[in-house]
Amino acid sequence: MNREIKGTPVSPGLATGVVHVIHVGRDVPTWSVSPEDIPLEIGRLASALNAASEKLAERQRRVAKTASEKDAEIFAVHRLILQDPGAMSAVESAISEQRINAEAAVQTLIKRFEVTMGDLDGDSVRDYASDVSDPWRLVLDMLLERDRADVLSSQSKVVLAASDLTPKVVTFLERDQVLAIMTEKGGRFSHGAVLARSFGVPCVVGIPNLLARLEQGMEVTVDGGRGRIQLRPSAEELALFLELKATADSRRHILNAESGKPAETPDGKRLGVLVNVESVRDFDTFDTDSVDGVGLLRTEFLYLERSTFPSEEEQYRMYRRVVERMPGRPVTLRVLDIGGDKPLPYFETPKETNPALGWRGIRITLQWSDLLRVQMRAMLRAAPAGDLRILLPMVTSIEEIHEIHELFAETRTHLVEHGYDVPENVLVGAMIEVPAALLALPRILDEVDFVSVGTNDLVQYLLAVDRDNSRVASLYEPFHPAVLRALQDVASAGQKAGKPVSVCGDMAGDPAAAILLLGMGFDSISVAPQFVPEIKYAVRRTNSTHARALATEVLDQATTREVHRVLARIRADFDGKVSEREEPAHGATSKQG
Ligand code: PEP
Ligand code: MG
Repeated sequence: MNREIKGTPVSPGLATGVVHVIHVGRDVPTWSVSPEDIPLEIGRLASALNAASEKLAERQRRVAKTASEKDAEIFAVHRLILQDPGAMSAVESAISEQRINAEAAVQTLIKRFEVTMGDLDGDSVRDYASDVSDPWRLVLDMLLERDRADVLSSQSKVVLAASDLTPKVVTFLERDQVLAIMTEKGGRFSHGAVLARSFGVPCVVGIPNLLARLEQGMEVTVDGGRGRIQLRPSAEELALFLELKATADSRRHILNAESGKPAETPDGKRLGVLVNVESVRDFDTFDTDSVDGVGLLRTEFLYLERSTFPSEEEQYRMYRRVVERMPGRPVTLRVLDIGGDKPLPYFETPKETNPALGWRGIRITLQWSDLLRVQMRAMLRAAPAGDLRILLPMVTSIEEIHEIHELFAETRTHLVEHGYDVPENVLVGAMIEVPAALLALPRILDEVDFVSVGTNDLVQYLLAVDRDNSRVASLYEPFHPAVLRALQDVASAGQKAGKPVSVCGDMAGDPAAAILLLGMGFDSISVAPQFVPEIKYAVRRTNSTHARALATEVLDQATTREVHRVLARIRADFDGKVSEREEPAHGATSKQG
């Protein structure tokens, strides 16, 4: 079997460690178990059976108390079903003979019950089928739940492997337990990918049949920048990988040395470099003094971490804490952007055929205005703590902005009437991520204080390519000439209107893109914190006239391939500048001699 596999790179970095396959969603994960781990897997099954049996006993007691002894009898029957030696030995032999994990073996048993009973007719047979399979479903739940608890309590660091890159997968463990992430599905600009980058861990997606090729606990190396994974590396391969890692670490060291300085070109043009933040804990992962503010705080991710909607008071405290972490610098809070691929577990949205074109972002919050009012109140109350700004997602029409302004004015008046201190002019901006907003830009700029381009969505809508679909991942192209033209139009419109324009989509995290955006005339960019040092380093070594010439050059290209040629040149030039710095350290003695 080929031990080297390739996928789509999502987040750079090099990591090596043991794999932990996780299940988040409906599919039950299947992986092969090495012969020496079979007793371990049977042990996992036994403890899940015990936990399920305890849970059933507890249910029995509760129902006996709240209903009747008779109603509670079913749980006693379920416990007896779990003691059936036939079923038990079927699961055990699936583990040891087929060498599959306990979850997959239990799932096979449940399927067998369903197939056997499904062939028979009648309600009572169907009831019986669910009676025999329900307790085993509980065992399955126990296995999956325990899995997370076990890793959490072991405190071990692992390489997470899953079928899809969802926000839930990324947040499955605490970030300091995650060495890297790899998945079968997912796109480079999906929200799971956005989170992986904000975690700063290497991540590779779009690897077909990944889970079938892994074993729990298998040693791997992950190169997030190149999208390469090595299964069971040999001693030689591992040594080579560690050498690469040492070079990457020394490069990072060089870049970090200047990260406290502003992103200013040698001829004096400044590019604001702000950060995208997904959680209050993110502030502990980077040097807050080295950035120009928060350009995008995705408030929905604060909501995603919870099991219920945060109250106004909780939101207020959260926003205040965030604003206080950035004294004297802007903190841009984006209004809740749920829907699409960001469902909230406690806010059921209907299943849609085209979720990206459906009920998401401002479309939800304008309809559920209570939700919006609570968030607005919390934001406006937190505003006196610093330079708080508000950003509107998925703006498609001027009417939406008008509606928001009205709601803000009402909320403000209400707060002031109740004695709150709310600043007069909290700045409000619009995300430019829907093509209609692009075309209506001069009008939109009349209505807002600033705009920020969400290229993750803008690219998907301009090119008609789903950002979450790995089948069309190769067509998702942030450097498509049409996208570059759109970006130039936004920069020019902003300059004409005298309003600040920024890019907060993930493409801005690439230093070559940052140079182009500077050349186009953007005032600032907002990126995952891990990219700040590299971008500053690049900007500090590029004259603004050169950046302008590069922007003109890419805008002249007819094809994406030609654009990439220019980008490759910018990157090579930048790499050369970094390695120039590496040389004195290595060659210091020879030069002196
Ligand atoms: C974007 O669309 O580029 C963006 C920044 O927002 P999100 O990725 O959360 O949709
Ligand atoms: Mg978006």
